Amino acid sequence: MPSKYKEESWYDWYGKNVEGIVAEIHAWGLEINIPSLPVSTRGHLHISEATEGQVENLATLFAIGQILIVKIRLLRKDRTGWEVSLKATFIEARWAAEFPDSSGAIGCVERVGEFGALVRLKCGLVGRVSAYNLSLIPQSHQLEVGATIVVKMGKWDFESNCPLLHPVLTVEVPGIIDAVNVSVHIKGNKKRNVGYSKTTARVSTESYGTVECDVSRLIKIQERFRIGSNVMVSIQLAGWLSWDRHGKIILAESDKIQYGQVPEVGSVIEVLVVRVVDYGAFCKVADNLAGLIHHKSVIYDKTPELGRYIRPGDLISVRVLSTPPDRPGPSLDFVTMVKPYTHEGQDADSCRSLFNLAQEKRKRVSGGFKRAGGFRAEVLDAFDHTCTLCGMSQLISEEISLAEAAHIVPHSRRGADIIENAICLCPVCHWAFDKGLVGINQDKVIVVSKMIANESDVSTSLRKLDGRRVVLPESHKVSYTALNWHMRNIFWDLS
Ligand SMILES: [Zn+2]
Repeated sequence: MPSKYKEESWYDWYGKNVEGIVAEIHAWGLEINIPSLPVSTRGHLHISEATEGQVENLATLFAIGQILIVKIRLLRKDRTGWEVSLKATFIEARWAAEFPDSSGAIGCVERVGEFGALVRLKCGLVGRVSAYNLSLIPQSHQLEVGATIVVKMGKWDFESNCPLLHPVLTVEVPGIIDAVNVSVHIKGNKKRNVGYSKTTARVSTESYGTVECDVSRLIKIQERFRIGSNVMVSIQLAGWLSWDRHGKIILAESDKIQYGQVPEVGSVIEVLVVRVVDYGAFCKVADNLAGLIHHKSVIYDKTPELGRYIRPGDLISVRVLSTPPDRPGPSLDFVTMVKPYTHEGQDADSCRSLFNLAQEKRKRVSGGFKRAGGFRAEVLDAFDHTCTLCGMSQLISEEISLAEAAHIVPHSRRGADIIENAICLCPVCHWAFDKGLVGINQDKVIVVSKMIANESDVSTSLRKLDGRRVVLPESHKVSYTALNWHMRNIFWDLS
């Protein structure tokens, strides 16, 4: 059945008395189900709407399954459901600031007086624009009887027994910047916190007081708009509240930042790394425009130290992903290292060479990367077919060997096919090493994970390895960086 949501304006439901069933009782109020609503049937009844006095426990007054007659006071067109409230026990309006409808409704002015203006909406509902709100409207836009006006719904005003309406009107007024303020916010995410900063400019205007303008996207605002600068601000007069005044600085053509053209989404381009931070690297994608590569797109490491693998000055190739709305530059996916930055006399970096960044990331190849030939033979030879962990020789004839060349940083994680990133293992140890059941610490001592929990034969034989020194050929070159990476990212450390 097609949703009636689009056809039915919420104004049609505004003020209606409907039946609601108490679904849940919380400390903050009641969650109720309203079967007659066309979209979401969930409503909230705040404790202050449900009771008149102080009530410790709403369960003493209401019961789940009880039917209440509720008056729909405010419908929220969002995913969480439509808010409703009881009319008879209403105490004060709370939701005006949350009202989400951005477009507003057209109304016609019926009366103007000291009380403000009465406006009749298309649905027949009459609401009031307060005298204060009316005083904010500039002379040139003053309301007369018969004029049409776009309004947003505010709180229910029980004194005049009609809703308060906020005129949707944008005015442009001159002002002076009197403060620029940078605040840092921490946004939680499942894995880690991400910080971002917001820059706001406080602008003093003559008729509208101080107005807060978000200028985060205007780079170097402090240089462009110093305190004391004269600016024009555009202010929306809907839901204008004395404690929450927001405006937007109108940029002159000369103030606007010219960004280059964002390359087409999906295209692979060569870019220069300009800045590396723990969570990613910024690369120049066009004039005045940097794109961001997430650190996991380059190297998988639980401790993001991207600067160890990718440096400013590196020339890399990237795939252009989408452009997020909150910043001008696109997201990028690392494809391959084209030319690492080196200055004269610099040694090849062991950490960088462990990861084969030059290997092109391809789609639909097992692990995404192609293996180099000859790697196995080189490793088996160097280790003389002996398992590094259990120490058993894996040769069963002149020609046949069970020994396997194991990557420490796996191939699928861009681990390079070099002897520094390899050890020789028997099939059982290889499996256990790749699963992270066994690792090698900095003292070349084997560590066995507590993941191995039972007393089976294989568990017992693996557990016996705990604390033993690894068996390495005399001329071994195994990289500790690689072994540390394995302990950090693959090994199951349950201790
Ligand atoms: Zn072994």
